[in-house]
Amino acid sequence: MAVKVCKFGGTSVAGGAQLRQVQAIVEADSARRWVVPSAPGKRSRDDQKVTDLLYLCHEHVKRGVGFEEVFGLIRERYQTIVCDLGLSLDIASLLDEVHARIAAGAGAAYCASRGEFLNGHIVAALLGWPFIDPVEIIVFDERGRFLPEETHQAVSARLGKLPHGVISGFYGARLDGEVATFSRGGSDVTGAIIARGVDADVYENWTDVSGLLMADPRIVDSPKQIAVLTYRELRELAYMGATVLHDEAIFPVRESGIPVNIRNTSEPGDPGTMIVRGNGETELASSERITGVAGRKGFSIIAVEKTLMNAEIGFGRRLLGVLESHGISFEHMPSGIDTLSIVVSSSQLEGKADAVLEDLRAQCKPDSIDIKPGIALIATVGRGMMYAPGMAARVMTALADAGINIRMIDQGSGELNIIVGVREDDFEAAVRAIYQRFVK
Ligand code: ASP
Repeated sequence: MAVKVCKFGGTSVAGGAQLRQVQAIVEADSARRWVVPSAPGKRSRDDQKVTDLLYLCHEHVKRGVGFEEVFGLIRERYQTIVCDLGLSLDIASLLDEVHARIAAGAGAAYCASRGEFLNGHIVAALLGWPFIDPVEIIVFDERGRFLPEETHQAVSARLGKLPHGVISGFYGARLDGEVATFSRGGSDVTGAIIARGVDADVYENWTDVSGLLMADPRIVDSPKQIAVLTYRELRELAYMGATVLHDEAIFPVRESGIPVNIRNTSEPGDPGTMIVRGNGETELASSERITGVAGRKGFSIIAVEKTLMNAEIGFGRRLLGVLESHGISFEHMPSGIDTLSIVVSSSQLEGKADAVLEDLRAQCKPDSIDIKPGIALIATVGRGMMYAPGMAARVMTALADAGINIRMIDQGSGELNIIVGVREDDFEAAVRAIYQRFVK
């Protein structure tokens, strides 16, 4: 029988009504055997996330300020949920215990993790399923670094004995027993780990959008939804700022090839976006199109010119050595015959630009060198690009027709994307021009 792991994000578990929806989703499909809930998120725009309130409680205690008022909001939130759902769960005792530990000066990770801990109990009671505290199965070392193999063993062993269960997201325990958390948004990571541990057929990630869009809706009017994309394409789009999933959530499922299905809790009929391992079929299905276009501002180009650069052994190493000595990493490095552009994020050059230029002049003796700030990068991403001739031409003519000057072009060696650099002022117009050229 198929096995699905369902992670529900903060807005999907924000209140009683949302949790009823979660129950309906889980009960609609018997393959949905493992549920990973977040802490209650915002019910409306000006609402508070429980995790934020918990961090605030911790801060108050640390500074010796009373935290009763903030904790009162948390208490009320959970009591309302339990009451709305008509559960017999003794949430008051659980809340009292959490309150006592926070008052006694518990660490930030412990405090923050209680949002998921309490919600896990609620979801388990709602479904009538066992609650599994992730401190038993998600393992971190003494310095708080996640231990994938130890965790995998523990997850398989513990969950292998159960027909179904609810595992709180976001946290686990260090080898010394202290609670540790992933970074913010980390329940996505827990869901992926559980999916790998139970060898799931699908990792369903239920959130408040119906999946990934082909472009940022703040720039392109009603962009289309992406039906299928590969892990690598997601990585490219995420690098450029398209976010739905926690960055680290892809690794555990990618390794075992488990597809991720981004779904919308308030539109359960919508198939959402499937993130899969690339294969021949997915390649060909969309050879005509792009998967998405995304970009970011805030880059600078270090433009270097030197005659016969190609024949000078060690030139690139010296150049990158200077960047390394200033602690700067580079993003892209397209080159011409006697020219080379190094794209770095502008924030890395802050306060260092003159010193970097001086060292580059001394070490590399270029004919000319110059830093051009104010660059935006735009990636046109698509596995279909490998097979379709003329994709680059379409990107270029789209920009030319829109009167946009291209400052840099780079096509990754995987031929999965074409990256162009344009002036920051041209960024939005460029994204729209590319999107409209490919999507009818
Ligand atoms: N509740 C945690 C946070 O707000 C983790 C999560 O929701 O995934 O960051």
